[in-house]
Amino acid sequence: MSKLSIRDLDLDNKRVFIRVDFNVPMNDRSEIDDDTRIRAALPTIRYALDHGAKVILASHLGRPKDKPEEKYSLKPVTKRLSELLGKPVKFAADIVGPEAQSQSSALGKGEVLLLENLRFDPGEKKGDPSFSKRLSDLADVYVNDAFGTAHREDASMVGMALNFKQRAAGFLIEKELQFLGKLLKDPDRPYIAVLGGAKISDKIEVIRSLLAKVDRLLIGGAMTYTFMKAQGQDIGSSLCENDKLDLANEVFASGKILLPKDHIVAAAPQEGITSKIIPTGKSFGGWKGLDIGPRTQLEYVEILKTAKTVFWNGPMGFFEVEDFAVGTSTIACTLASISATTIIGGGDSVSAVEKNNVADKITHISTGGGASLEFLTGKELPGIAVLTDK
Ligand code: AMP
Repeated sequence: MSKLSIRDLDLDNKRVFIRVDFNVPMNDRSEIDDDTRIRAALPTIRYALDHGAKVILASHLGRPKDKPEEKYSLKPVTKRLSELLGKPVKFAADIVGPEAQSQSSALGKGEVLLLENLRFDPGEKKGDPSFSKRLSDLADVYVNDAFGTAHREDASMVGMALNFKQRAAGFLIEKELQFLGKLLKDPDRPYIAVLGGAKISDKIEVIRSLLAKVDRLLIGGAMTYTFMKAQGQDIGSSLCENDKLDLANEVFASGKILLPKDHIVAAAPQEGITSKIIPTGKSFGGWKGLDIGPRTQLEYVEILKTAKTVFWNGPMGFFEVEDFAVGTSTIACTLASISATTIIGGGDSVSAVEKNNVADKITHISTGGGASLEFLTGKELPGIAVLTDK
């Protein structure tokens, strides 16, 4: 890795600030629904504690509107974290105020302090220099392990980091750079990407950069229909970006894009509704394309079996409705069964591998959906760029 790692730092008796991603889903009673992100941060936290650090943790949670909102408080995380670490976790409700300052200076070796939701202060999202300075004053050493926020220029990601001589990556970011970095540099070939989801426009930059690297790009999801319409095929009432038809034809000219050969179509994305299989080129009868068809699934599976590297982002259909989730589940299970390096970038694809109980058979599941796609466009993410080069 070309960036400094937590392993390269002297942590003994230092106040070590670790920017973590504790943006966990919570229910109405402020109970944590899924603690995956807290567990994912444990190796970095434990490493710091094992090396004599006084650990200060900070994260955002949800989207509070620049001021404290009870439902976005990180307080409930202290309890869960404390159970997982097997030691008490202190909490500073004022983020960078007098309480946080006195707690951080009183922190002993092996102790842990969690700051309240960084986004309760408007300075976080604005990357405000004075908020950045007050954050950095709490610590002696800076470590970032919040890959999911690395495409943002928030104070805790960039501004405060610049106040430290050495700025290092935690283990989560280290792993992201290792796997996603290889996709950009020298992926083992054949390298196949599978891209689905709603819109071409959201993903056009990543489509362009993937096309420069991959051997094939398999398309699924609603974006299929913008490509098909651009080629003059009937798509019924499928979702389509009519203002992106030229763009669709432009990227299709690469010759690397494969579109579905058949489709599951229905009048609406509803459970139990009548559906039909329609081959590309035939009339959709006014219905919507809601999943890739069986012939496409077979073809994609056969291609994926030949791959040495696979990157996947985005569902193959309206997978929230079980009837139209088959294509997405097929891709999830195929990735789990092939011997290639398999990398999943974010969101819905991660839910799909989890739902199919195959997450542990995927080489790398990125902790940042938006961040991983932006990384793959080849742009350096602000939160990564700021880390010290080795
Ligand atoms: P994205 O955030 O761009 O990855 O898009 C994910 C969304 O695309 C999911 O909510 C899916 O339900 C939706 N989607 C995928 N395929 C289709 C389709 N054929 N028709 C309508 N929505 C779709």
